[in-house]
Amino acid sequence: MGDYKIKTAKLMKEIMGNYFLGMKDTNKKYAWCTSVGPAELLRSFGFEIHFPENHGALLGATRTAGDLIPESAKLGYATDICSYLTADIGSYLKKQTPMQEHYGLEGPPNPSIIVYNTNQCREVQDWFTYFGKEIGCPTFGINPPRHIDEVTPEEIADVAAQFKALIPLCEQVSGTKFDIDKFRETLRLSKEATDLWKDVLWTAKATPAPISFFDATIHMGPIVVLRGTETAKNYYTELLKELTANLKEGIGFLEKEKCRIYWDGMPIWGKLRSLSDLFIQNNAAVVASTYCNSWVFDSFDPKNPFESSAKAYTEIFINRSESAKEKILARLVEDFRIDGMIFHDAKTCANNSNNRFGMPQRITEKLGIPTLVIEADLCDLRFYSEGQSITKIETYLEQIESAKVISQQS
Ligand code: SF4
Repeated sequence: MGDYKIKTAKLMKEIMGNYFLGMKDTNKKYAWCTSVGPAELLRSFGFEIHFPENHGALLGATRTAGDLIPESAKLGYATDICSYLTADIGSYLKKQTPMQEHYGLEGPPNPSIIVYNTNQCREVQDWFTYFGKEIGCPTFGINPPRHIDEVTPEEIADVAAQFKALIPLCEQVSGTKFDIDKFRETLRLSKEATDLWKDVLWTAKATPAPISFFDATIHMGPIVVLRGTETAKNYYTELLKELTANLKEGIGFLEKEKCRIYWDGMPIWGKLRSLSDLFIQNNAAVVASTYCNSWVFDSFDPKNPFESSAKAYTEIFINRSESAKEKILARLVEDFRIDGMIFHDAKTCANNSNNRFGMPQRITEKLGIPTLVIEADLCDLRFYSEGQSITKIETYLEQIESAKVISQQS
């Protein structure tokens, strides 16, 4: 199965290519939005959406971030804060982006409105308001309660009210009156796409798994940037069809899984391919992750668009208490039959590094599975020591395997 390939990837490249090429049309009005911001509400006003974090990931994956991060230091941004922020602002200052070479674009499209949601971190507030001031663009922030255990009706009402408060600005900038039916329709499309995305990810519960965490970081493009459109929904319908057919035929990315791994935290964008190869060579299937699950929004309900989207965007994993996160992880460990959990300690993102307050130890204690912490970063490869990490990962995988053999014998 060394040549296992997900064929729908071709369609995804086409869709993502069209999404970027569409940015050439300067007649379209663009909203800039955080990756888990109220995209559906913005889309209901007819805005196209650019996600600066998606651009950050592109800078990481193309390994251009390293040249750009020092640029933002000139404005006083520390080089150990969010490397999406520093790479994206650096790209703007240096007027350099892979979008030029790949899509013939000078850079991200000019925004008519900038919207951020601090449900993921406060860094996005600094990042997005910088651009708001620099470009002279109206900027709106949503500030939900943070690190919640279970989201309460009062908290949902608070966030829903903040979503509603965004409407007058959207009406003014777009020149379009708010239409609840359009909002419902966009949320319906988003709901269908996110349900399909979940089904896609959940195919990896099977052995052999037809999609790995590394594949999923690539296939998640449309659910991030095109949720709320027919295109995203149709894409995941196709992808699911292929993966389900592979399941039926018993085809997956590994013929013989020696162990099943959960990846916690951010991807290391510039090292996806080499890490994917490393795990495959060791017959370890990385089948689930916090990151890819972040775009599974179970609570969307078009009948109740404000409250349900406020709930969905507030109960995301990154915005939960330690104990709520541990409950979610325990469930996933069981459902995906996980043998080990790798925590990525992303040096520039404390928000999405869950190893720093003893969680790996608690997971081992409570769930009986060994954990490993890898120090690296989403974009800044200065924080990643490849040789050391490979040795750590291989030793860890061997330990899991011997522990499994011993437990089978006893
Ligand atoms: S969650 Fe982390 S990586 Fe994402 S924007 Fe915030 S600080 Fe950056």
